[in-house]
Amino acid sequence: MQYAESVVDLIGNTPLVRLNRVTAHLGPDAPLVLAKVEYVNPGGSVKDRIAVRMVDAAEKSGALQPGGTIVEPTSGNTGVGLAIVAQQRGYKCIFICPDKVSADKINVLRAYGAEVVVCPTAVDPADPRSYYSVSDRLARETPGGWKPDQYSNPANPQSHYETTGPEIWAQTDGRVTHFVTGAGTGGTISGVGRYLKEASGGKVQVIGADPEGSVYSGGTGRPYLVEGVGEDFWPSTYDQAVADEIVAVGDGDSFAMTRRLAREEGLLVGGSCGMAVVAALRVAERLTRDDVLVVLLPDSGRGYLRKIFDDEWMADYGFVEAADGETVGELLR
Ligand code: PMP
Repeated sequence: MQYAESVVDLIGNTPLVRLNRVTAHLGPDAPLVLAKVEYVNPGGSVKDRIAVRMVDAAEKSGALQPGGTIVEPTSGNTGVGLAIVAQQRGYKCIFICPDKVSADKINVLRAYGAEVVVCPTAVDPADPRSYYSVSDRLARETPGGWKPDQYSNPANPQSHYETTGPEIWAQTDGRVTHFVTGAGTGGTISGVGRYLKEASGGKVQVIGADPEGSVYSGGTGRPYLVEGVGEDFWPSTYDQAVADEIVAVGDGDSFAMTRRLAREEGLLVGGSCGMAVVAALRVAERLTRDDVLVVLLPDSGRGYLRKIFDDEWMADYGFVEAADGETVGELLR
């Protein structure tokens, strides 16, 4: 019989798939471009990986006691991972979300049994109503409360150093030459990047994809619409020594590529995936057939059906000229 003891044991070991159509313009000397598909994790994103490792570490250190409550500000994906691990191990969850997060994502957290508190985005982080302030207060005031803090928890990058990085190295037989990923907390790029650099003796090039406006690509923290990536501060989980290059990508390009991935590659993925692929293709243009580029796709497109995959929403934000399906299709192809 082949089965896992619990859904938690299904986290990780995600597949690599070649991108065939969106790479067509690269011509016969194109590098091999492989996508690491993280939406096949049980919670639907790469964040399942850090959830289980952060909980393991907190159980070991005693920070999380039996029957305790996990309190975390999260834009959704980390929450889903934590909610799954928590229910399997008998913890409660309270998540704090900014109001720009889609209702669908919030309902997913509630479906797993978590409590969700929604806070305004348009206030200063120091404001008592901000999602940082509210989560600090709830973590302090909740009996048995523990805040994983994915932005400073070393188990976040460590989980990628111990799982995602070695998987990519083994799956490519050590032939990977370039790794491209978006950065939010920076856990993925820091952990995977460090592992691949060490395994290859410094040869693997690590490229961060970043929304225009985010600090990682020299921005001021001005708003952008791609979710889960970019920051207006430098988290301690982001190791500034790892990335060789940061490529800034605009929302319009990110969303157009996200739609192409669904339509042309059969990959229904989120906006940060489109962003990472845009950056990956810019890098791929200067590579040759001897190179192997791996781009990580963090989550599924199902959480964005009423945004990126909604023609009217796209038109409202000016990413396409009309809310007419055909025009949108032509513009985005
Ligand atoms: N994309 C999405 C959709 C995410 O939720 C996250 C996590 N914030 C990332 C990318 C970036 O991952 P990391 O936090 O490891 O930098």
